[in-house]
Amino acid sequence: MKADADIVILGAGVVGLSAARRLVALGARVTVLDAVDPGGRGSRAAAGVAIPSVRLFDDLDMLVFARAGRAALADDLASLPDGPQLRRGQGILRVVPDAKSRDALAEKAAKDVEGPGLWVDAARLVALEPALEGTPLFGAFESEQGHMVDTDGYVNALRDAAARAGVRVRLGVAARSIQETAHGVEVHTDEETLRADHLIVGAGPWSAGLEGLPALPLKPVRGQMLVVHQPGLQLSRVVSGPSYLAPWRAGEIVVGATEEDAGFAEHVTPAGLLHLSATVAKLAPRLRDARFVRAWAGLRAVTPDGRPYIGRYPGMQQVYVATGLGGQGILTGALTGASIAELVEHGRCDAVAPFDPARAARL
Ligand SMILES: Cc1cc2nc3c(=O)[nH]c(=O)nc-3n(C[C@H](O)[C@H](O)[C@H](O)COP(=O)(O)OP(=O)(O)OC[C@H]3O[C@@H](n4cnc5c(N)ncnc54)[C@H](O)[C@@H]3O)c2cc1C
Repeated sequence: MKADADIVILGAGVVGLSAARRLVALGARVTVLDAVDPGGRGSRAAAGVAIPSVRLFDDLDMLVFARAGRAALADDLASLPDGPQLRRGQGILRVVPDAKSRDALAEKAAKDVEGPGLWVDAARLVALEPALEGTPLFGAFESEQGHMVDTDGYVNALRDAAARAGVRVRLGVAARSIQETAHGVEVHTDEETLRADHLIVGAGPWSAGLEGLPALPLKPVRGQMLVVHQPGLQLSRVVSGPSYLAPWRAGEIVVGATEEDAGFAEHVTPAGLLHLSATVAKLAPRLRDARFVRAWAGLRAVTPDGRPYIGRYPGMQQVYVATGLGGQGILTGALTGASIAELVEHGRCDAVAPFDPARAARL
């Protein structure tokens, strides 16, 4: 029987859509399914900080991947109509509370080619970002590398570009179970069975629970976000310490993010808002009476060792997984998608060798 597509992809987030664009460019017939409309549930929930987190300084493979991810994202934005307009702000201030934390961060970052950035004291910090005035600050490392991305705009642009290139994007269609056969893969939805040569699961934290696939240790970690606005008080870069404030749309400021073990619950809570309000009070007390604009919550996909799964599902031939990007999936999603596409097409991709899901048995 003729397959409905060469490749079916589950998930119309940054990962699934990036993989689809790459595969269709290589001549494959690609169908993307997403259980929800408009799709990209985690991707749209993200703040969009496209800058490696300091946590990555502890894992050099991840840091190298994140730096390559930043370059892939830049190429992606350049290739999309209006892509350059999806960038917001430039650079980051990594605020530290005291000399001990400054020295610890400098030592950690010394392993990285870019280092921690330039040291700026409290007075310079406030001169750079007047919104930070009014709280006892010690200082920060300033880096001009990286920026924010308008995540909704990015996912929409990826989806539109994929559709224009010939990818079938079907939203509001959930895969219920998967079956590997002698000839390929069957994807069962409520309405039909889709047949393909290969399947890529880029379904975020939902990737682990699909019937017919081996269990992978992967958990959802909820993040809550808050947006505020105060005329005259804006930010031009990310301020991180370790929660963060960053430039959002039209002079608004986004505050993020909680990290909660709350299963698949995706709602905003009073405790989450309290945590985010405390971040405002600590980093930018002048924003305490700013206008509340919006709050939301979303789920990250997190693995036990903090590294993504990018490769074949253990024990399967035609079924691949690309998930577990934690809080760095906007930064690394384009590279992850391109890498899984390369694996499917050519059977090999050195950039993601450290992230082979086969290691799951040892986690
Ligand atoms: C609050 C928050 C803040 C974040 N901030 C940042 C940030 O500032 N910078 C950064 O780099 N990263 C950030 N991230 C992480 C980033 O959002 C994710 O790592 C990334 O978006 C994951 O993309 P994805 O394509 O893997 O998954 P998603 O965008 O979650 O897409 C997966 C899709 O799969 C679909 N799906 C699930 N099950 C099925 C099924 N059975 N059939 C079909 N479809 C299915 C879902 O509906 C979903 O739309 C943040 C995440 C959160 C939650």
